[in-house]
Amino acid sequence: MKTIKRAVATKLLPWFSANKRSMPWRSNRTPYRVWISELMLQQTRVDQATPYFNRFIKRFPSLKSLAAASQEDVLKMWEGLGYYSRARNLHKAAQIIANEHGGRFPGTAEEIQNLPGIGSYTAAAIGSLAFNLDLAVLDGNVIRVLSRLFACTSSKKELQQMADDLLVKGDAGNFNEAMMELGATVCLPKNPQCCECPMSGVCKGLKSGNPTDYPVKAPKKKIPHIVVGAAVVTNGKGEVLIAQRRNEDMLGGLWEFPGGKQEPGETIEQCIVRELKEELGINIVTGDFLVTVKHAYSHFTMELHTYFAKIKSGRPRPIHCQNFQWLGIPKLRTVPYSKADLKIIEALEKR
Ligand code: SF4
Repeated sequence: MKTIKRAVATKLLPWFSANKRSMPWRSNRTPYRVWISELMLQQTRVDQATPYFNRFIKRFPSLKSLAAASQEDVLKMWEGLGYYSRARNLHKAAQIIANEHGGRFPGTAEEIQNLPGIGSYTAAAIGSLAFNLDLAVLDGNVIRVLSRLFACTSSKKELQQMADDLLVKGDAGNFNEAMMELGATVCLPKNPQCCECPMSGVCKGLKSGNPTDYPVKAPKKKIPHIVVGAAVVTNGKGEVLIAQRRNEDMLGGLWEFPGGKQEPGETIEQCIVRELKEELGINIVTGDFLVTVKHAYSHFTMELHTYFAKIKSGRPRPIHCQNFQWLGIPKLRTVPYSKADLKIIEALEKR
């Protein structure tokens, strides 16, 4: 531990200071900007997160403006990033900070972690980067770097302890960013660039000859595949019917073309007819096929078959959804959707 700890101070931190990539949240570092960037970086790479971050900050430049926004506006700015509960929690937390902390981001680890949607990782990142608290972060990059530096197969709890021990007191923000940067740019999952690594002189994984043996990977689980049917229901005014998913469901608060999962023995058209009856209380007839969209979520893959439809009887009511509305095609993009539904809109716009 001692040699590695020494190398962190004498090799890793100087390397980071000379090689750190420029990122918008690294300049003008405020707790608010750190918070938004950390949440986005938990689900996407730096190059993909950057345009989202810039767009989000332009629309909500301060905590106050985020707290005052509608949930729908926040989801619209998060559209395409996935993990929408993070956006809903972000919005809730901004309102709590505005109402209970006088609009100032709380500055202790405990208070930060009490906010909705902030776990130990995000609290450590905000605490160290924005308030210089001595908290070590443990994300996927840090887990890989530590497992290789120590050539160990330790549990998350043990790795957290190692990170806490290695932490350079009084310089936690730099330490955390340096570890994450090393994992993201040098100690790569499949192809670690050991020749360029500032820690190569003390790395036990490299010494073992097989650094990629660390960390030990859990065997991949087979991901289920589901087939879904959805309808683009049109009326005589050139409008289409969209439904809003319930907040407590996956993709909660987003809008969608109504539909659902195909059941055994059903055709896709039968599935769509049943789903629209259950979700909105309407009887429909399906028409032309529009598009099939394939999408992979973290825990399942999906193919979504979309057909045009018309209402045969009944008026839409929000039964298994939060809300519904009719919108003309040019206005469809004014509300937030999942990536799969955005592809349906693209197909509609191309017709
Ligand atoms: S020497 Fe290689 S395996 Fe060890 S930390 Fe550096 S890049 Fe990773």
